[in-house]
Amino acid sequence: MLTKAPRGTKDLFGDEINEWVEMEKIIRNLCSDFGYGEIRTPIFEHTELFQRGVGETTDIVQKEMYSFQDKKGRNITLKPEGTAGAARAYLEHKMYANPQPTKLYYITPAFRYEKPQAGRMRQFHQFGIELFGAESATADVEVITVAAELLKRMGISKVKLHINSLGGPECRKKYNQKLKEYLGKNLDNLCETCKERFEKNPLRILDCKKESCGDIVANAPTVLDTLGDECRDHFEMVKTLLDEMGIEYVVDPGIVRGLDYYTRTVFEFISTDIGAQGTICGGGRYNNLVEELGGPSTPAVGFAVGLERLLLVREAEKGKKEYAPSKDIFIGYIGEKALVKAHGLVYKLRQKGIKAESDHLKKSVKAQMKYGDKIGAKYSMILGENEINTGKAMIKNMETREQIEVDLSNIVEIIGDLI
Ligand code: ATP
Ligand code: MG
Repeated sequence: MLTKAPRGTKDLFGDEINEWVEMEKIIRNLCSDFGYGEIRTPIFEHTELFQRGVGETTDIVQKEMYSFQDKKGRNITLKPEGTAGAARAYLEHKMYANPQPTKLYYITPAFRYEKPQAGRMRQFHQFGIELFGAESATADVEVITVAAELLKRMGISKVKLHINSLGGPECRKKYNQKLKEYLGKNLDNLCETCKERFEKNPLRILDCKKESCGDIVANAPTVLDTLGDECRDHFEMVKTLLDEMGIEYVVDPGIVRGLDYYTRTVFEFISTDIGAQGTICGGGRYNNLVEELGGPSTPAVGFAVGLERLLLVREAEKGKKEYAPSKDIFIGYIGEKALVKAHGLVYKLRQKGIKAESDHLKKSVKAQMKYGDKIGAKYSMILGENEINTGKAMIKNMETREQIEVDLSNIVEIIGDLI
């Protein structure tokens, strides 16, 4: 128990953390190129924020939240996603008073009580962006281009963009009616959860992963047929802009997304390479969320990428990345006096940005050199009584085995020039 991390969580270290750091670097550069500023919101929020912001009828709120009461009896929840917190911060700090749009990104852990399996964790990580304060289709497409470019920069190609429109409240109302008429005839054959959804949020039934429901849903009327003129024009513009940018997509009426707040454009990037947990990015427009949280009416669009899944997809396509250790120089020593000199020199070199190492275990010279090799040192040098007395030492190129004699009086500069 004490030596095992909680189910559905994971320690990241070694080669794996290198991949994460590299991925985060790609994300941060990407967001800088596309003009998104970072936001870091708390890991926990008031439970009500997610109930309102994510939606009472969603799986997240109904089954998956890590909620608890703090010592003062406040209802608190570990964030299951990033949008609600970002929207709350947008309101709290009156970002709507700035020139719009407000373009934010986040990289955050998220928590959901789910059955752990490949690509499904209880603590996982999301990269997401939110564009607040712009209504036009250009904003939808800009957001999509950020995700498309991320996949490109990650070297992932076996992914397809699926897009759909859920329309605005008016089209939704009409569609819900049509959908209920259709589903009402098949009510007995729906799963128990979908029977409940039928009353509260029939759209959610389109998202059901159960085969029996899937068969019924396959012949359901599509929301695209119910779109009003404005929503239809908006969707057409999204497609025109995607064409202009050379981003391939399929129109997929099955994309309805798990969260309640979406309006108009919704999209997913789905891997054609990894099976069940193939959705690596989901997003869309959510024009009602900010108002739902008590703010001014604010159109918004965004997405979230599951970072564990992103790496899974990259690994499936390109194999596991290996990171060879690498250091600039290993400074070995023989004897107490040289030990002091060696460690003193290592500190000076590090201050100059040179990756230097020495030995902390009082190993034999032979073992020290072996260690230097193992940690990927490009050069090595050994200090002993003799070197200290003469003020001269040998630097060895660990690859070619070539050695050069150097003067210890200005050794930091010499090594600096070498590296
Ligand atoms: P799914 O249908 O797989 O449950 P979702 O609709 O619940 O996904 P979103 O809420 O849209 O997912 O979250 C955005 C992304 O976060 C997902 O596309 C996925 O890549 C990732 N994600 C969601 N839940 C998990 C989880 N439990 N573990 C790892 N990644 C997750
Ligand atoms: Mg889910």
